Amino acid sequence: MIKLLLMFLVTTACANIQSIKGKDEDKTQSTMAASSMSEEKYPVKVVEVFNGKVKYVQVPTSLNDGSYILKCNELLTSKPLKQKIPVEVRDGLAHVYYAESYFSIAKKHKCMLEDEHVLTVMVKQYPYKEERLKVAKSKVKLSKKDQKRVGREWLMTKKVYENSAKTLLIDKPFLKPLNSYITSRYGKKRIFNDMKRSQHLGNDFRAKVGVPIPVSNKGRVAFTGDLFYTGKVVIVDHGLNIFSLYAHLSDIKVKVGQMLERGQIVGLSGMTGRVSGPHLHWGIKMNGHNIDGFSLVEESQKQFVNESVTTH
Ligand SMILES: [Zn+2]
Repeated sequence: MIKLLLMFLVTTACANIQSIKGKDEDKTQSTMAASSMSEEKYPVKVVEVFNGKVKYVQVPTSLNDGSYILKCNELLTSKPLKQKIPVEVRDGLAHVYYAESYFSIAKKHKCMLEDEHVLTVMVKQYPYKEERLKVAKSKVKLSKKDQKRVGREWLMTKKVYENSAKTLLIDKPFLKPLNSYITSRYGKKRIFNDMKRSQHLGNDFRAKVGVPIPVSNKGRVAFTGDLFYTGKVVIVDHGLNIFSLYAHLSDIKVKVGQMLERGQIVGLSGMTGRVSGPHLHWGIKMNGHNIDGFSLVEESQKQFVNESVTTH
């Protein structure tokens, strides 16, 4: 009887050992499978970007074609801020236009695509120039009425920037609108009367009144109007939260909703809005940040590098 009981215990014990061993084997196999799978995964891309500039990155992915959101988390700053960047996946590549805020003091971003870490962005500070100006107080300080108007207009354009096409509307690189002299470069810090600071977050091109202004790329007219700072202005949506803006125009030649070909005339240059003389202010808004348009011209060439090779 005792013998039988012992035998039973031994067998059950062995059975348990067997089964545990079996589980362990399964575990080892699944870990091996996971590690071989992770070896097949694409390595994390690492890129450097200056504050106020954009970087175009192609991220290899096994995701199906379509629109996705790249979630980037600022690291090494006191307040982590998540950025949601719309991206397009085509033929195993995610096309990412990563724009870094002019005001960014972040050092590093970790970007996730569908919960997978695919991109690390290292932020470098660009040495933007500084200019000191003496101006009349009334020019710096706005009246209550103007303050209200500026507030209303800010909300209006904010809504415009929140409704971008979910796919890229472009099929060629961006172009600068004019070949004329740049009278004020992007990013210049302006210190008025040693006190008030502002930044010029666009590029000013020399242009007398009446010069035809071509749109930088294919897109849809998202806004036209006459605003306090910009005067007569046209804002064009190029998809994936990329917008271009043409300000201080004397005449607007397009209508909201209209689809534009690259180079189509949006209006004539002028001196409407808050200006000291006629010129074209060319702005690029990407994912909520005012970005240096020249960096978009340069970076967008990388997306269409193969196309340009085949056409030549
Ligand atoms: Zn300007």
